Amino acid sequence: MATNKRFDIISDIGCVACIKLGFYGTPPQIHHLKGSDYCGYGQKADDEDTIGLCIHHHLGPEGYHSDPKGFTERFGTQTELLEHQNKLLKMRGYDADKSNPEKRQSTT
Ligand SMILES: [Zn+2]
Ligand SMILES: [Zn+2]
Repeated sequence: MATNKRFDIISDIGCVACIKLGFYGTPPQIHHLKGSDYCGYGQKADDEDTIGLCIHHHLGPEGYHSDPKGFTERFGTQTELLEHQNKLLKMRGYDADKSNPEKRQSTT
């Protein structure tokens, strides 16, 4: 059985879109970031390039997969949400920078 510490902590933190609205601890699903930066053809994004989104913000009518444009306008780009997620993970003792050093060197 594979366990993934990142996914565990993401589940514990809750949906990042809800957090932006001020609601903490909404049970999230793991969303793999989309876009050429994160996944190539037929390739799934890296497990580090994941954020937690509740079913509403993930697959619901206002969710990323139903309305990516509207979602981005409301909550920010995938990259911004990933940075936000990684900050929250860091506060819980999971250092995403260490797992992916070449990508995040510029962030302080
Ligand atoms: Zn949400
Ligand atoms: Zn998704």
